[in-house]
Amino acid sequence: MSHPAGGAGGRRRSAPGGLRPGHLDLTDEVTLVACPGCGAPAEIEWQSSQPGTTGPVALAKLRCLNRHWFLMPADDLVTADIR
Ligand SMILES: [Zn+2]
Repeated sequence: MSHPAGGAGGRRRSAPGGLRPGHLDLTDEVTLVACPGCGAPAEIEWQSSQPGTTGPVALAKLRCLNRHWFLMPADDLVTADIR
């Protein structure tokens, strides 16, 4: 009986690479909040969670129609009720 040679090393799998069923962070929705300065609708430009003394603090940067911008705790954000 002759066994087929090889079998050691160089074993390759052709994996279906490329696409992964990941999650999408991007959304087309823009969260509007009320500007703490003037009350105009403001858009959240950036949001992040920072370690704080009492735990993680969510910070958000927002910019309003009047070009004010604020960096503030996300908990203090007031969602604009615009319809
Ligand atoms: Zn404003």
